[in-house]
Amino acid sequence: METSKKITNFIREIIDADIASGKNQGRVHTRFPPEPNGYLHIGHAKAICLSFGIARDYKGLCNLRFDDTNPETEETEYVESIKEDVRWLGFDWQEREYYASDYFEKLYAYAEELIKKGKAYVCDLSQEEIRKYRGTLTEPGKNSPYRKRSVEENLGLFRRMRAGEFEDGSRVLRAKIDMVSAHLIMRDPPLYRIKHISHHRSGDKWCIYPMYDFAHCLSDSIEGITHSICTLEFANNRPLYEWILGQLEVHRPKQLEFARLNLSHTVLSKRKLLQLVEEKLVSGWDDPRMPTLSGLRRRGYTPESIKNFCETIGVAKFNSIVDIVVLENSLREELNKTCPRVMGVLRPLKVIITNYPEDKQELLDAVNNPEDETCGVRKIPFSRTLYIEQDDFLEEPPKKFFRLAPGREVRLRYAYFIKCLKAVKDEKTGRISEVHCIYDPATRGGDSPDGRKVKGTLHWVSAPHAIKAEIRLYDHLFTKRNANEAEEGADFKSNLNSDSLEILTDCRLEPSLKEAGPQSRYQFERMGYFCLDSKSSTGSLPVFNRIVALRDSWAKVEKPGRNKKT
Ligand code: ATP
Ligand code: MG
Repeated sequence: METSKKITNFIREIIDADIASGKNQGRVHTRFPPEPNGYLHIGHAKAICLSFGIARDYKGLCNLRFDDTNPETEETEYVESIKEDVRWLGFDWQEREYYASDYFEKLYAYAEELIKKGKAYVCDLSQEEIRKYRGTLTEPGKNSPYRKRSVEENLGLFRRMRAGEFEDGSRVLRAKIDMVSAHLIMRDPPLYRIKHISHHRSGDKWCIYPMYDFAHCLSDSIEGITHSICTLEFANNRPLYEWILGQLEVHRPKQLEFARLNLSHTVLSKRKLLQLVEEKLVSGWDDPRMPTLSGLRRRGYTPESIKNFCETIGVAKFNSIVDIVVLENSLREELNKTCPRVMGVLRPLKVIITNYPEDKQELLDAVNNPEDETCGVRKIPFSRTLYIEQDDFLEEPPKKFFRLAPGREVRLRYAYFIKCLKAVKDEKTGRISEVHCIYDPATRGGDSPDGRKVKGTLHWVSAPHAIKAEIRLYDHLFTKRNANEAEEGADFKSNLNSDSLEILTDCRLEPSLKEAGPQSRYQFERMGYFCLDSKSSTGSLPVFNRIVALRDSWAKVEKPGRNKKT
């Protein structure tokens, strides 16, 4: 990513003003605080680029902090995947890998301090009762009958909560703020709950766990964070964030909220993505259709294309849905510049060049990347038997069809002009089994010396030289632009696209693709960008993912004719 370009947004403007006024001695220290309860998705990439990007540009620091205060849903597998994904994007937290669970002892001490200050109490109401007492946006709340407990009684009970004397859900520690506050979050919110559950890091040491609102602001404070950047949903929590830090007289980071990324035709919620994984509606968190960073990586996305995307969409204060085409275009732009061109036939149709000698073969020059001359040329074999795309031949073509048909002449890319004599059909099925053509030897390289023009240029591979491969074509995971929005009585899964994966098992690729490694990406001429799927490829049959088609195929559906093939 270019770092010379000056990025600006409202968050950076606030930071500039803070630096100008000498706040935090001019320090900038951010953090990315994932909860390890799922794999990161493209929305997290936006948050990562923002917090790590600010630290980089202001010569500050960004911590990676696992917000692991909810032992029920958190796992080490997720911690590992999150680290891999942040590193893959190209960001470095150096030695600053922190865990909210490492602060449990400190957080507990802060809770006792609040109790001693008369700012927190142990409440025996059930969850249900607490909800009833809270009131609503239009009705004030009511004080809990336990609100008047003495400091000594509260301290004793809280210590016994920690010691494991009480059952899950029987008591909570609550902040003593204001049951009639206009902010519902300020109506004596719970700070600690009892859960006799092992934690993935602290084991069975604790049976009380801090709530997000208590743990988060104090973790930020403990780490000396200056700007705590989070998504808009947390704007509601900001009064509580500030209240807790204010009561304890500790370092006070500033919480800044930005609009989360919503992407069309997918869902960006770990809870929903987990459902897709658990219900086996996708092959895993790294299914190439998933909007997870591991899915995008396996699909063939590059970190640069994702970072450029995050920069393009910018940072705003209102929520909107970004079209997934913006992400795809960011990738296309990069791949167009960097990918070598090769030829591969996805749905092969045999072509026999009847005037080409049976025992002859030759090597022709093909340009590796017309966008980058330094990539040079390669040799591709040509012979009497070739494959072209089934779609590139029609026995009875409409007028505007410029590809191969009986009596018509086309160019084979980097090879010759060929003219079709006839189609041969399988007697049993009636389907076209091969096409017979003649070639014009004078057109070697794909140009006619007599100035004769052809309208179509087809890609092809030499049958005896081709390698066999499986190719997986992907479409949007959901059919609806807002995939979260379901019909009455249905949920988001009813929007799943049943055609999001197409597997082609009989593809033929030019022999240079034998060299394809897990990191190589190619443009298959006319068919899109592809990469090896290292997870499914076996020695005998390589598997390629289509990363993205050359153009947005959904636009084609809306505007027929716009993306006419040659
Ligand atoms: P989800 O809604 O997917 O469950 P989350 O907010 O619970 O996500 P966290 O692990 O708590 O996930 O998120 C870590 C950070 O990433 C938070 O600061 C959060 O605001 C940010 N984040 C999460 N989703 C998005 C998104 N769609 N766009 C931008 N930032 C996001
Ligand atoms: Mg969260």
